[in-house]
Amino acid sequence: MKAAAFDLAPAASLSEAVNALAGDGAKVMAGGCSLGPMLNLRLARPSTLVDLRRIGELRTLQRNDTHLLIGAAWTHAEIEDGVVPDVTAGLMPRVAHGIAYRAVRNRGTVGGSLAHADPAADWVSTLTALDARLVIRGPAGTREAALPDFFLAAYTTSLADDEIITAVRIPVLSGSARTGYHKICRKTGEFAQAIGAVVVDAERGFARVVCGAIEAPPILLVGAAKALLAGDRVGALSRAKEDLDAALKDHDAAFRALHAVAVERALDEAAV
Ligand SMILES: Cc1cc2nc3c(=O)[nH]c(=O)nc-3n(C[C@H](O)[C@H](O)[C@H](O)COP(=O)(O)OP(=O)(O)OC[C@H]3O[C@@H](n4cnc5c(N)ncnc54)[C@H](O)[C@@H]3O)c2cc1C
Repeated sequence: MKAAAFDLAPAASLSEAVNALAGDGAKVMAGGCSLGPMLNLRLARPSTLVDLRRIGELRTLQRNDTHLLIGAAWTHAEIEDGVVPDVTAGLMPRVAHGIAYRAVRNRGTVGGSLAHADPAADWVSTLTALDARLVIRGPAGTREAALPDFFLAAYTTSLADDEIITAVRIPVLSGSARTGYHKICRKTGEFAQAIGAVVVDAERGFARVVCGAIEAPPILLVGAAKALLAGDRVGALSRAKEDLDAALKDHDAAFRALHAVAVERALDEAAV
């Protein structure tokens, strides 16, 4: 099948893109990796496609002592290759490397991935574990959103039809921070069947343990994170198992086991 007819509106600036979204049925396109197939299957039928790829403001890179702000249009490949500086102790380049294959990574953007909000997408869990925040621009101005508040359900976010993710604000991890990421998938580079993501930054008093790819937004395993911060690795593991059993009680045993293993391996990795 081919896409239904639409007008193409390449935007040269963010305000031009926001104005173009005011029209009925307009939608933005970044890398087109997810939107392209949805257009062809006619699951999306925008009247106008607003192309974000020429907007320099979406390629911001700003760093201060506590945060790195990266524009939404940086691609997975640019994160993988270190064109985007890393402040996450190697976690983001490693995760980027495991997304799909190079052709997809060359086009797919971090902003597109978060806006699409596929629960199995790697950035959804990773950036939640890192406590990243989104900068979002709409007709009324700019707002920020923490990721756990941004994801409402599978493929559903708090983004209004006329809003654009402009950047992601990523906390700078301290030198002693530890991270772990484990993605279970049938073949290397495929979408995840289960994800465990762990960040422990004792110097900043921050720890987060996340279970992802659960057909819903990622779960924060708060008890496990507290135990980790207290240096109790065994406690972190048992709290993670208890919390996962409760959170995934409506899923079958295989699904629960897969997710428990992903989280356990991410915890092991963060502990090394
Ligand atoms: C074969 C294949 C395998 C893949 N495997 C993986 C994988 O293993 N792991 C993984 O995480 N991902 C995977 N992906 C997804 C891919 O990595 C992209 O991140 C994802 O498709 C969306 O990014 P995009 O820039 O292409 O967005 P687009 O396809 O252009 O847009 C996706 C959605 O986001 C909206 N959007 C885009 N940018 C913005 C913005 N700045 N503000 C607001 N809304 C916006 C669009 O309107 C659209 O609704 C795979 C994709 C393909 C095609």
